[in-house]
Amino acid sequence: MYFAEVIFHIYMQKILAFLFILSSVTLMAQENKIPQTEKFDFKNLDAYIQILPSIQRVEGKVDYTFDVLAQEDTLRIDGRNMEFIDVFLDEQPVEFYSDEHRIYILFDFLPAKNKKLTFNYEVKPTSGMYFINWDLSQNEEAKKQVWTQGQGKYTSTWLPSFDDMTEKVEFDLSFEFPRDYQLIANGALKTVKETDSTRIWKFDMTVPMSSYLVGMAAGNYKSKRLTSSSGDEIQLYYNPEDSLLFEPTYRYSVEIFDFLEQEIGMPYPWQNYKQVPVMDFLHGGMENTGATIFSASFLTDSIGFKDRNYVNVNAHELAHQWFGNLVTATNGKHHWLHEGFATYYALLAEKAIFGEDYYYWKLYETAEKLKELSDSGKGESLMNPKASSLTFYQKGAWALHILRERVGDEAFRNGIKNYLKLYSFRNVETDNFIAEMEKASGMDLSQYVKDWLEQSAFKATQSLESLRKSEFIVNYLNIAALRETSLEQKFQFLEDALDFPVNDYIGQEAVNQLAGLQSESAFKLYKKAFETNNIFVRQAIALTMKKIPESLKPEFESLLQDESYLSIEAALFKLWEQFPAERKKYLEETRNLEGFYNKNIRMLWLTLNLVTPEFEPNHTQDYYEELAGYTAAWQPFQLRENAFSYLYQLGAFNPESLESLIKGTRHHIYGFRNYCRELLNELLKNEEYRQQLVEISENMTAEETSYLRSKINR
Ligand SMILES: [Zn+2]
Repeated sequence: MYFAEVIFHIYMQKILAFLFILSSVTLMAQENKIPQTEKFDFKNLDAYIQILPSIQRVEGKVDYTFDVLAQEDTLRIDGRNMEFIDVFLDEQPVEFYSDEHRIYILFDFLPAKNKKLTFNYEVKPTSGMYFINWDLSQNEEAKKQVWTQGQGKYTSTWLPSFDDMTEKVEFDLSFEFPRDYQLIANGALKTVKETDSTRIWKFDMTVPMSSYLVGMAAGNYKSKRLTSSSGDEIQLYYNPEDSLLFEPTYRYSVEIFDFLEQEIGMPYPWQNYKQVPVMDFLHGGMENTGATIFSASFLTDSIGFKDRNYVNVNAHELAHQWFGNLVTATNGKHHWLHEGFATYYALLAEKAIFGEDYYYWKLYETAEKLKELSDSGKGESLMNPKASSLTFYQKGAWALHILRERVGDEAFRNGIKNYLKLYSFRNVETDNFIAEMEKASGMDLSQYVKDWLEQSAFKATQSLESLRKSEFIVNYLNIAALRETSLEQKFQFLEDALDFPVNDYIGQEAVNQLAGLQSESAFKLYKKAFETNNIFVRQAIALTMKKIPESLKPEFESLLQDESYLSIEAALFKLWEQFPAERKKYLEETRNLEGFYNKNIRMLWLTLNLVTPEFEPNHTQDYYEELAGYTAAWQPFQLRENAFSYLYQLGAFNPESLESLIKGTRHHIYGFRNYCRELLNELLKNEEYRQQLVEISENMTAEETSYLRSKINR
């Protein structure tokens, strides 16, 4: 059936897209500016920042303290598209001018200590600070938030600061924000004062950091405080309506904190630690100093936790508090000193939680990807400032894994400790790190540097040697080697692989090799795989089995009871498709399930209902409205995208969803914006939709409809 096939395609594509979003916590390297750090040393910024979310505007007053190190006639502070007024140097009016990038102070500066520069500024940030759902026409249910992203964007889009990572400043920031909301920023919260309509949040930091690590988030939040074994405060935020998701989302937070302090061998370097989920975030997470912001799409219940959880990103952003925040690369060439380290230490934390097989499995997976890139001639040196995130993150982690094997645990940990101590609150290059490792190990690491840091090809043979230290990997590779072998010849091996206690990954591999096979011996193995009761092995069946044989129908139906939203989504669709007589039963059984953050099961369920009108004929309209309602512009983009896909397959856009689609073509999330643009292009091929889109756009703003107009030439 055409419709069913298309739905299945779309749903597989979505799973792939979903995994891709998960793995691409892409952060661009900072742009390199002409350094003025040799002439001036900025020490402290005291700023008062009023955020006016209803008009998406920021008004602030900054008070910079700095030393002049050498004679100079111009001082620059980055501030994009800002208006500057009341500019004073040591309380005297001073000559200045500004362009779209920054303010220039013109003065005959001579070496001196503790100079003071103050000014007021106003700006309407176009990036760097994001205003979610503040348009007045919004629905009551819409989450109103403001949050920032400084890396890959610029903090100087909303706060006069430095686009250069080597200028480290102690930031003491106060924010004024509408009083109904909570506000989170770097440092210790000193006071909260209330005015008639606002609250003033005063934060304090005691040590310096780079500007890209300044961050704030505001919204309707509650929080819980936990304490690490060493006594550090960990404050975890959540939206009140998500209280049941708090525990599974933040599961292992204290364990991760304790593990990293122990493993790194240096105490957590900042006053406190906070984490806050935000809607429509640009990345997986961002390690603002002491105040990690992460994507609300990581919110999960205990069932979803098994398939995808926040543990990796939780550990990754925390590891950055040492690697990146405390010790910062001078420029993008050394970006792996941030991302490779955060990836490696997150993997170590996961190893402590999920076990050694997990650790080696992740290394194996990334080695496969890196080898593929390398074999296609596109391998990248770790020190290429334009390298992909695969290189910075995964090749970086591999480089540290190999280095630790070379120098041994003790030297590795000593080298790390010395490196962090020596360069705390300073900037580093790769050579600085290698020097500490050579000192700690007494080894000459020049060959290692060539092989792992400089060379663009991936050292696949060395990696394989390392992976083979894991007995699990050896066993896995033995099974994976049978992919091209006939079932008769490998039957016994696959059967043994499914013996109790089955290994998650090896069991999955055995099942994957059965895909498309319709023989009695394949069914026998499937039956054994079902009986392992291993959730991941059963998931592999749900995802890869094509035609469900009558003899395994009861087993396949039991997948609807599994604690895996991936299994249930795949099983529901396949059962609905292949056993039309029993559609009512399957829909009844899955009636109350939502699934992941993007409501994967709920939306599939609604769609299947709409094309099974005999199930509940009186509810068709309700179900349609619920599905179309998920496209609303105030909904998280992950829900909108999922709902758009289903409406497209149903050929059933209503005016509201078309309006939301037009708005989506201007969304700040690149992937979603492109998705909306491509879908809009498709709809424009249909004359009826085309006319509707044109009519709807007449009541929308020029900005919202700019993409549509570029496509219809009017
Ligand atoms: Zn990172």
